[in-house]
Amino acid sequence: MLTAEQVIHYAAPDNLLQDRVILITGAGDGIGKAAALACAKAGATVILAGRTVAKLEQVFDQILELNTAEPVIYPIDLEGAKQDDYHQLAVALDNQFGRLDALLLNAGILGQRTPLNNYRQDVWDKVLKVNVSAQFQMTQALMPVLEKSTDASVVFTTSSVGKVGRAFWGAYGVSKFAVEGMVQTWAAELEGLGNVRINAINPGATRTNMRAQAYPAENPNSLKSAEEIMPAYLYLLGSDSSEVNGQSINAQNR
Ligand code: NDP
Repeated sequence: MLTAEQVIHYAAPDNLLQDRVILITGAGDGIGKAAALACAKAGATVILAGRTVAKLEQVFDQILELNTAEPVIYPIDLEGAKQDDYHQLAVALDNQFGRLDALLLNAGILGQRTPLNNYRQDVWDKVLKVNVSAQFQMTQALMPVLEKSTDASVVFTTSSVGKVGRAFWGAYGVSKFAVEGMVQTWAAELEGLGNVRINAINPGATRTNMRAQAYPAENPNSLKSAEEIMPAYLYLLGSDSSEVNGQSINAQNR
């Protein structure tokens, strides 16, 4: 495995993801959009999953301009999706590709930045649904198609506030702690069994809508762009990390 510093500065070989089929949630905006474009540039066929079709269509068009593998749009709302919706997704992937080589569980929501004493129950439920339960359900439903890959990588998205509890991060912080625990548990269960590995990535402070919502007074230009943190994503999604399982990886030093 590469060192933490080497992962952050990973130089992806040309065509790293050639012929890999990669599903990215929240692919229409922010980090997910940058990941979709980076994966397409590296040769992957990208399934653009998300809830706002107009945004997914824009990413679709940008990928077409790269003259690489044609992506696929798969609209799904993680807040409302049921088990059957995830199974339909698995069937669609199986029918079209016969496998899934990587799953980037990137979509997430922030919820309220307020003390837990005042936290609203409905927001709590929504954040835990989108950031934890939906991630679990999707991964569980897609496991049979992941198992058909010779080298499948599942990447959950964590956060610094999911490693050390911090005031006012509410359900979001709790949800990211849950993601860290889910990754450790699942990875331990899969260790040595087959070709599926599960890790977490922490993007670190990145210039996106979510970051601006969390830190409205911050100068966005002081932050890394989503494109700048892609080396670690490409490392985890490609085969150079095939021996890495159960790790929580930082995409930048901040
Ligand atoms: P953005 O808010 O910019 O993007 C979030 C993406 O998730 C959007 O594409 C959004 O879709 C999608 N999404 C939200 N809710 C749903 C839903 N119910 N169903 C389907 N898709 C949904 O956030 P970032 O790009 O900043 O965050 C990406 C990930 O990185 C998140 O998991 C976040 O927690 C994590 N993270 C981000 C950090 C940062 O500094 N930016 C730091 C640490 C972690 P739509 O555009 O349609 O709303």
